[in-house]
Amino acid sequence: MYPSSASERSARLSAHASTLLPGGVSSSLRKVSPSLAFTRAVGGRVWDADGKEYVDFHASFGATLLGHGDPVLRERVRELTEDIDLVGLGPTELEVRLAEKVRTHVPSAELVLYCSSGSEATYHAIRLARAATGRPLVVKFQGGYHGWHDYIGANVISPPEKLGTIDSTSDGTLPQALEWLRVLPFNDVAAFDELMAECGDQVAAVILEPIVHTIGCVVGSPEFLAALRRGTEKAGSVLIFDEVVTGFRHALGGFQQISGIRPDLTTFAKAIANGYPLGMLAGRYDLMSQFNTIPGQPVMYGGTFNGHPISVAAGIATIEALEADDGAVHKRLFAMGQALRDGLVAIGERLGLAIRPTHFGSVFVCYFTDRPVTTFADALTNDEDAYVAFHRGMIERGYLMIPMNLKRNHLMAAHTEADVSGALEAADEVLTTIARDRAGAASGVVA
Ligand code: PMP
Repeated sequence: MYPSSASERSARLSAHASTLLPGGVSSSLRKVSPSLAFTRAVGGRVWDADGKEYVDFHASFGATLLGHGDPVLRERVRELTEDIDLVGLGPTELEVRLAEKVRTHVPSAELVLYCSSGSEATYHAIRLARAATGRPLVVKFQGGYHGWHDYIGANVISPPEKLGTIDSTSDGTLPQALEWLRVLPFNDVAAFDELMAECGDQVAAVILEPIVHTIGCVVGSPEFLAALRRGTEKAGSVLIFDEVVTGFRHALGGFQQISGIRPDLTTFAKAIANGYPLGMLAGRYDLMSQFNTIPGQPVMYGGTFNGHPISVAAGIATIEALEADDGAVHKRLFAMGQALRDGLVAIGERLGLAIRPTHFGSVFVCYFTDRPVTTFADALTNDEDAYVAFHRGMIERGYLMIPMNLKRNHLMAAHTEADVSGALEAADEVLTTIARDRAGAASGVVA
């Protein structure tokens, strides 16, 4: 059906898809330039429609932590779901088994509820916080993403001229929904304390990515996270950690285990089921008990696919893989992330290039700036053209990284140390070209 000319198949498949799906893709940010369409994904690699092989550092926006089509996970899911598909009544043994595992590992998870995506989890978390506190305000931080719904769809990667305003991510959003949103700078204790002093008694919830991976890798400082915990506790507001990216990827207990800060509610998705559609809300007993999964309780919680056996089985199998050999998967991922970061630093120093390779565990980025990136303002100093050129150069050399500003890269357990050293060799070539172009531009020489 598609032309066999190797160089054209991705583009032709994308063009055909565009006649059937708006833009030819199923979610925003999946459409990139050059057009890429994939026909195979195994382990740490993907193959485009032209048969070109890539080491996949996109890793499904971070969902496939173990790797694509992990054979152990697939077999375990098959085994666990042999006798059951969706029933949609009562609990399944699988839901109970996964909940027990989550409670064992995630410090703040007293009760859990399943859904199918991260956006659903943050929606439920925010509505529950408003119901439980009887207050309207929700506080988020500039640069964080928490899903596509009206409660929170604002101020993600805002352009500088929109900073300080409510920057909605979508037309059609009810202005009333965002009227009750406050947006603060991340890692700014004074701004947070000031807002809480002014209107803390109106704040239902404070929601954050404890590491803002939406803008690469901006780690919440210990002082900042402690201030959020202290301030919300004092005001009686609900602290929500959005661990959709950090959960299970950085530790079985999420970033709350690493930071020692215990949120009231936590949202999970992505890596918890290695790419199967599973979302989860976890948290304090008294809050979670207000959902009407307990008859008569006031907060609606529904969903035909909630707790779907296949997704829940994938969650169990993923956690089993992460528990094995005393956490060997995480140890290896952290070591590979460190090696990538260190290698990029060495290349930057040798070339005299102003880059800030940054990683936390298996997530890594190469910011093109001369300062450490600890705030959204720092992220805005990233040279977008160079960042995208770097990712495009890596794609050309067979390393898949989204060619968009500030998009992060992920290691998977299926990656090898050889993938890391190969990526560093490719990065050396690409960064050398970027450094040469910059030097040429500075001297006025046009190649
Ligand atoms: N929170 C964070 C931190 C995310 O990165 C995402 C997805 N990129 C979401 C929530 C929304 O999750 P989903 O796409 O599964 O709805």
